[in-house]
Amino acid sequence: MTDTDTVVTRFAPSPTGYLHLGHAYAALFAHRCAREANGRFLLRIEDIDPGRCRPEFEAAIYEDLEWLGLDWERPARRQSDCMDDFEAALDRLNRLGVLYPCFCTRAEIQAEIAAAHGAPHLVAHGPDGPLYPGTCRALSDGERESRAQAGEPFALRIDMARAAALAGPLHWQDRDRGEIRAEPRIFGDVVLARKDTPASYHLCVTVDDHIQGVTLVTRGEDLFPATHVHRLLQALLGLNTPQYRHHGLLTGPDGRRLAKRDKAKTLRALRAEGLHPATVRAMAEMTELV
Ligand code: GLU
Repeated sequence: MTDTDTVVTRFAPSPTGYLHLGHAYAALFAHRCAREANGRFLLRIEDIDPGRCRPEFEAAIYEDLEWLGLDWERPARRQSDCMDDFEAALDRLNRLGVLYPCFCTRAEIQAEIAAAHGAPHLVAHGPDGPLYPGTCRALSDGERESRAQAGEPFALRIDMARAAALAGPLHWQDRDRGEIRAEPRIFGDVVLARKDTPASYHLCVTVDDHIQGVTLVTRGEDLFPATHVHRLLQALLGLNTPQYRHHGLLTGPDGRRLAKRDKAKTLRALRAEGLHPATVRAMAEMTELV
């Protein structure tokens, strides 16, 4: 087997809370995909959100994964240490002419969407809700410059129609669903650099999977739609396209998926109650891998 054939997977949690069973499942799933292919398993800490990420949650990630018996290549990649990589990617997109500054506040966007509700056909919806109405796409260069120079904070959005036209038709291989045609326009002009941090989930995941040499992205099916955007960014940035596997999500007794905000029991709470890591591992091993 040559190095280029080696399967490389990763687990990419955000240190915004303690890991719960859903995270354990995702981590074990990625680890198993690598192990069964004699591949490599990596860890990435997705900590670009300065308001929500906390050092104690990052420390807990390492501790909880060790408790589960997982081993990853050290050191883990921490996104907050890699801002130069994201800046370089934004530069390249900017040179392609597919980015524009967006000065809108959340309230302004909501007001615009609410105003269009009188004419609901004007409100387009994507996987994450109503699409950005495109207000700042129409600004002139002069207006952009004067508002930026006046110190008005801005995000960077991708001009999706333009970017998709530039990239042309794109596909990716989903291990379970086969060849998927990328439809990034369903997301509208997503933010690639936020006002509070000059990067975004979509940008960082795409850049990092390439830099880390990930060949198989495994993650929950809630992130399946995001792959449309990631495939486009790969094409625009000249990055590798990994294969994908989007696995099912664990649900709680109420049938809803486990989530931090729903106070799903954390691994450390379960551990304190006497849960054994082998039980958690067995649960992840029950899923059939093709
Ligand atoms: N950091 C993301 C999360 O915690 C996962 C990113 C990914 O797997 O693409 O949901």
